[in-house]
Amino acid sequence: MNSTRSPRIAVVGAGIGGLACARTLQRHGHRVTVVERETSAGARGQGGTLDLHVDTGQAALRAAGLFEKFRALARAEGEEVRGLDPFTGALVHHEQPAEGVGNAPEIDRGQLRELFLDSLAPDTVHWGQSVAGVTPLGDGTARLHFGDRTTEDFDLVVGADGAWSRTRPALSDATPAYTGDTFVETFLDDVDNRHPALAQLVGKGTLAATSDRATLFGQRNSGGHIRVYASLHVPLDWHVAAGLDLADTTAVREHLLTVLEGWHDGLRDLIRESDGGFINRPLHVLPIGHTWDHVPGITLLGDAAHLMPPYGIGANLAMLDGADLATAVATHTDLDHAVRAYEKLMLARGEAAAQACAELAKALASDTVVNVEDARKQLNERLLRPQRTR
Ligand SMILES: Cc1cc2nc3c(=O)[nH]c(=O)nc-3n(C[C@H](O)[C@H](O)[C@H](O)COP(=O)(O)OP(=O)(O)OC[C@H]3O[C@@H](n4cnc5c(N)ncnc54)[C@H](O)[C@@H]3O)c2cc1C
Repeated sequence: MNSTRSPRIAVVGAGIGGLACARTLQRHGHRVTVVERETSAGARGQGGTLDLHVDTGQAALRAAGLFEKFRALARAEGEEVRGLDPFTGALVHHEQPAEGVGNAPEIDRGQLRELFLDSLAPDTVHWGQSVAGVTPLGDGTARLHFGDRTTEDFDLVVGADGAWSRTRPALSDATPAYTGDTFVETFLDDVDNRHPALAQLVGKGTLAATSDRATLFGQRNSGGHIRVYASLHVPLDWHVAAGLDLADTTAVREHLLTVLEGWHDGLRDLIRESDGGFINRPLHVLPIGHTWDHVPGITLLGDAAHLMPPYGIGANLAMLDGADLATAVATHTDLDHAVRAYEKLMLARGEAAAQACAELAKALASDTVVNVEDARKQLNERLLRPQRTR
């Protein structure tokens, strides 16, 4: 972008997609403001570990100039995948790339977010500032409306505000729909000392076991932490129908153990011994091929643009979207041309990814896929390689 004045750019949302965008913009000498409704970087736990793929998440980190720092934090051994028979606990699938051979090392989401935050110019992120909406002003600029009723105008507003984006309504009427699957999440801490058998069971990466009633994931994070997800095919209000108070840890635990009746004891212990309460995460998606007529001054990235099931792609894509948008802004002389070029690339990529996720979901539902984690990895490999942008 070679205009006389640096454009005023606002990124809504300090998730990893928005931060990848902000960091890459700053790397190219652009000013950017990130507005985030959370009150501080530590206000909320950031969730589990992410495997970052060469052509997506890792490409974004390279564009952001953070790849070497990522390598220093990443856990190559975290690529281990174990598939267990739910009833016998026998290992039916095992993948452990030899040292230096794997290409999707794991990093804790919190560490990744911190990496981006530490790389930004001071005061880039305005914490505790909630966006209520955005309106195009008709002259190529857009107005951000904040929760406290104040407003601010920008040349470009980037909606990186996730599944329930407040930016998206300025571009499209689409709303996320429930997939029919819910993850119920819990965790175990200090596992090598306090839960050594479960530490052994899960190994260094991800464990998965599937029956027709549920899929259980155990995911090793850094710092002796294991994150556990029970994936259930249930109505959105499953807990109401079951008469459960989600804050009642004992009751939710008992319910899940009933769902996992007949499963191998070692696997059930992931729920029985959990240290945390349970977080209900119903999975939603945007329609495949979600798109909009271009509106000058406003665009979207990541989940705000193409929310899809959690098959190991969403965070990788959000980061790549952010890096691609910033790179387009830096390399075009006209801001609107840059955004149009980015949208063309990102929307096609998002549609292909959502389509592939839907195919995988169908295969999982029809039992033609036996190992969820393996299928997830293959999907990521297959999907994005041909769409390399750099
Ligand atoms: C259980 C689960 C497991 C997953 N595992 C993986 C995985 O292994 N690999 C992978 O690639 N993907 C995974 N995903 C998908 C991944 O989490 C998302 O695709 C990714 O986080 C999207 O990033 P984002 O930056 O677009 O949005 P988000 O990460 O949702 O960030 C949005 C940010 O915007 C802020 N915000 C929201 N509304 C407002 C507002 N009105 N005003 C200001 N700020 C606002 C939020 O506080 C947040 O900080 C998983 C998802 C789930 C649910």
